[in-house]
Amino acid sequence: MPLFDFQCTACGTVREVLLRSGQADPTRCQACGGEVRRLLSAPADLKRMDAFFHKETFSDADIASKGLTKYVNRGDGTYEKAAGSGPDVMSRDKLPL
Ligand SMILES: [Zn+2]
Repeated sequence: MPLFDFQCTACGTVREVLLRSGQADPTRCQACGGEVRRLLSAPADLKRMDAFFHKETFSDADIASKGLTKYVNRGDGTYEKAAGSGPDVMSRDKLPL
């Protein structure tokens, strides 16, 4: 699914839109209701998407130091803590709330 930039011809606002095949282009600006035009920048968009989907991954130590918690799916409806603080196990049937 390609990302396209649309620019408003009235106020100049640029909006990024993810278009599925067969989906019509947006025609109106969300900010002012003006007419929008697609900007021709597909190669740049593809590079940006690639960067997004291959962004930096974090080690377990990084996760813990940022105050986050990582859980690993054990496949039986339970998640086991791999890094950070929080309950050691979470179950889909028994949430720790
Ligand atoms: Zn506008």
